[in-house]
Amino acid sequence: MTSEPSGKRILLLAITLSAAAAAAVSTAVILSSSGVTVEKTGLMMGTVVEIRAVARRGLTGAQAEAAIDRAFAEMARVEGIFSVYRKDSEISRINTMKAAEKMTLSEETFGLIGKSVAYSAKTGGAFDITVKPLVDLWARAKSEGRLPASEEIDAARGRVGSQYLVLDEGKRTISFAKDGMALDLGGVAKGYAADRAIAVLRKNGVKDAIVNAGGDAYCLGRRSAFRSWKVGVRHPRKPGALIIELPLEDRAIDTSGDYEKFFMLAERRYSHIIDPRSGYPVGDDVVSATVLAPDSTTADILATALCVLGEAGMRLIEGDPALDAIMIRMKGGGLEMVTSKGLRRYEESEKAL
Ligand code: AMP
Ligand code: MG
Repeated sequence: MTSEPSGKRILLLAITLSAAAAAAVSTAVILSSSGVTVEKTGLMMGTVVEIRAVARRGLTGAQAEAAIDRAFAEMARVEGIFSVYRKDSEISRINTMKAAEKMTLSEETFGLIGKSVAYSAKTGGAFDITVKPLVDLWARAKSEGRLPASEEIDAARGRVGSQYLVLDEGKRTISFAKDGMALDLGGVAKGYAADRAIAVLRKNGVKDAIVNAGGDAYCLGRRSAFRSWKVGVRHPRKPGALIIELPLEDRAIDTSGDYEKFFMLAERRYSHIIDPRSGYPVGDDVVSATVLAPDSTTADILATALCVLGEAGMRLIEGDPALDAIMIRMKGGGLEMVTSKGLRRYEESEKAL
């Protein structure tokens, strides 16, 4: 995903990545006819995070910059809770539990796990944060350059399923019904972090901003008095090309796809998204799925789910007027773009795939 102006953006990314070793955050103050925009870019949650806030509607440039710093700090806090790459995170501590052990969770962690579990039910098990045993099995196979044996897949699949999560809402406790279960919030944490960053920006007086956590984004307010934020969805196979551009106001847009992260085994492309029902990485039906929702947590969950569900996922989206989606699918050796009804009016701006 990208947002205009693209020329400046590319320059900024180059600066940030070269400064990555020092974990630096690059800052730019962009002056245009519509006023001052402050933009900061950093590396977080394994991705490039960009936050841009417009100094208007009573907000100064210095206040915008301070608000962005607080938003970054909030995202770092969220990463500290939900990262499976950190041994001391709340999620990692949950993952050390054996069957029937119990842990009391923070309200925040219990809430995000609860929302994720609710979406497992809504998506018929296509989205499931208990997918980690399968994610780990496929990661191991990748590092060993082999496909997992079907017995290994069956064994891992037996430890996957939100129905084996025991949640007590009153006491805010969690336990696993089976040994060897583990949670992976990689399909929802970036969207949640973007929502938290937006909440902090709002609290600090920002009314117009965009937060983009590596393709999980939220557009708050407008870019200027005359223009709303405009977000482009990248072409999954042509670097630099966009498939659609959408004006967005107070809305989230998140993309999942096989082109962002994938690995090759025996000359085949494997997605990082696993179908928990079959135990296999999703096939090449859905190349990418972009979801628009009132919040980025929901959009993140559903974008991952749509990669698993394919066409059936589109019906789920169209059943809720607050949601929209753009799906790129393989068709007859080429690519096909499918949009939800709410986006048909933008089809004129579609470029040939
Ligand atoms: P995203 O990039 O938001 O689509 O999330 C992909 C990440 O979510 C993967 O790297 C895994 O950590 C995790 N994941 C993979 N498959 C699933 C699934 N079916 N449901 C929930 N999370 C998943
Ligand atoms: Mg996701």
